[in-house]
Amino acid sequence: MSSTSPNDAYERQRQEMVRLHLAGGGIHDVLVLNAMRLVPRHEFVPESARQASYEDRSLPIGEGQTISQPYMVALMLEHLALRRTDRVLEVGTGLGYVTALLSTLCGEIYSVERIPELAAAAQQTLQRLHYLNVKIKTGDGRMGWSEHAPFEAILVSAATPEIPPDLFAQLREGGRMVLPIGPPSEQTLQLVRKIGGRLEVKVFDHCRFVPLIEGPAG
Ligand code: SAH
Repeated sequence: MSSTSPNDAYERQRQEMVRLHLAGGGIHDVLVLNAMRLVPRHEFVPESARQASYEDRSLPIGEGQTISQPYMVALMLEHLALRRTDRVLEVGTGLGYVTALLSTLCGEIYSVERIPELAAAAQQTLQRLHYLNVKIKTGDGRMGWSEHAPFEAILVSAATPEIPPDLFAQLREGGRMVLPIGPPSEQTLQLVRKIGGRLEVKVFDHCRFVPLIEGPAG
């Protein structure tokens, strides 16, 4: 009988990824690092790419979409400076990896995904792994989720040419939104804050995300 299961191997690889690429890459927020140590990314990666789950890179999740690079996810979470009680909107659930991280860091997570098959798969995995403070719906995330607004934080995992006005409207005063802005070749990660009802924008690193798509899937 072998003394190490695949899960032990994944666990070791995950701790190593956090140490080398996240802490080693300049992520300081202890809460973010701990969440990344806990959430099993390989559970959110399709079988075909699972071996590569703890490489610090984006991976295909089907439907032409990707699970974001762990370093980029950690950076987005760090910029959001999340609190345990925050109510958070996520746009672009994918297979639910970032949703699971948000679930361990915050109070209530509302996540919108355009492609029904991805939303359904994410829902299933999150339930199976007992991430219970999460609600997912299929729809156009550029409209947000007004029934549950306002949000303390909004995380957008797909690139848009400009800040979607409905998302800014659903941000609470003092709230933060992180999103990639720009066309495929020259996006930057931006942090938007709502101060006195107005936008305050900080521009960070260059990044590369799939586009935030208008209209329904299919
Ligand atoms: N955050 C996830 C997935 C990132 S890929 C992860 O890291 O695992 C970006 C996701 O945004 C894709 O699943 C894509 O289908 C979704 N998406 C694109 N446009 C959208 C829109 N208008 N509304 C909601 N989701 C959208």
